[in-house]
Amino acid sequence: MTARSITIAAMLVGAVLAQAGGAPAETGVARAPATQGESLAVATDVRVGGDDKQTRVVVDLNRKIDVAVFTLADPYRVVVDLPQTTFKLPAKAGDQARGLVKAFRYGLIMQGGSRIVLDAKGPVRLEKAFVLDAAENQPARLVLDLIATDRATFMRNLTVENHPAPSLTAKRSEPPPKIEGDVRPLIVVDPGHGGIDNGTKGSGGELEKDIVLAFAQTLREKLESGGKYRVAMTRTEDTFIPLGERVRFARTRSAALFISVHADALPRREGQAEGATVYTLSENASDAEAARLAETENKADVIAGVDLTAEPDDVANILVDLAQRETKTFSMQFARIVVEELKTAARLHKHPLKSAGFKVLLAPDVPSVLVELGYMSTKDDLKQLTSATWRGRTAQALAQAVDNFFTPRVAGTGGGRN
Ligand SMILES: [Zn+2]
Repeated sequence: MTARSITIAAMLVGAVLAQAGGAPAETGVARAPATQGESLAVATDVRVGGDDKQTRVVVDLNRKIDVAVFTLADPYRVVVDLPQTTFKLPAKAGDQARGLVKAFRYGLIMQGGSRIVLDAKGPVRLEKAFVLDAAENQPARLVLDLIATDRATFMRNLTVENHPAPSLTAKRSEPPPKIEGDVRPLIVVDPGHGGIDNGTKGSGGELEKDIVLAFAQTLREKLESGGKYRVAMTRTEDTFIPLGERVRFARTRSAALFISVHADALPRREGQAEGATVYTLSENASDAEAARLAETENKADVIAGVDLTAEPDDVANILVDLAQRETKTFSMQFARIVVEELKTAARLHKHPLKSAGFKVLLAPDVPSVLVELGYMSTKDDLKQLTSATWRGRTAQALAQAVDNFFTPRVAGTGGGRN
């Protein structure tokens, strides 16, 4: 290492420490919006080398950028925050385990900010983190040196170097100004995953985050076209939203209904499944598959490198809340109506109504369901999930279910919440 790069390393480590003691909420604010002026940084390649004692991660960049690096526990992660960056890395770059790194992900974490999250095999110490200028046929490079350590040291360093997830929640929690006199129910449509969190993957590289965003946009159009509802989406682009923030989004806007949209995939050893499933919140999962799915979907924050230590994780307590009981009844009613309507448009799972402890369904005062549109691991399902015709038909059925829920029927069990 040159004397120059050592100086840079010292500066950066200093910056990270200053962040820990200073005002972490400003991390995101201080960043210039990448869309203005300066063009986006581009990451062109990545190399991980070393062994179980010491591992070096090198990311090639088109120019020098500022980074902030911190660690997270349970599971052990190293998180690198950088200005909005276009990742042109080889396919499956993050899948390979090497040395102390099990796998890593990268992508947009908020407007103007990207993130790399490394899953560590165990407790690690961040020995060095620096960015080198381009020099002598070498591109600019981000270099991280990780050294194996014990849990006690890791946890001690955590309190020194760490800062909370940078203003991921603060900026987004502001509800929009309420339009006086508009008493139409607000439907919040929540496309799962986004940004650094791809969700599940199809055999042809299709990503759940893209499929559910396209579906959510179609659903929004269908709902708005009738003129009976206001619609808000937790995300309208490929960016990450923490699970708790999705719940807050619906609550602060006094939403009348929350619909989270996802697509499932079964691990290969678990065989095949097909069709759509509608999930509601419950403390005990309705079956093993529901439990497995909730666990997977609840990992979104871990995947994106959000510090969960401050998040309340108490499904049981919320469930005994009185408001929750009423909400639960409405959620169940809506879920049943969705299943009835989806029957007309899409293939359903053989047990289409299930429940489990999904974090995104935790709003105690907003009836909430999570719709798994189908299985990306099943060829026929994937074909439908990527078809515009299927999308339009299925979104129409879901919009009809919303209508049935809000319009009391003369006979039957549907709806009645207005
Ligand atoms: Zn999902």
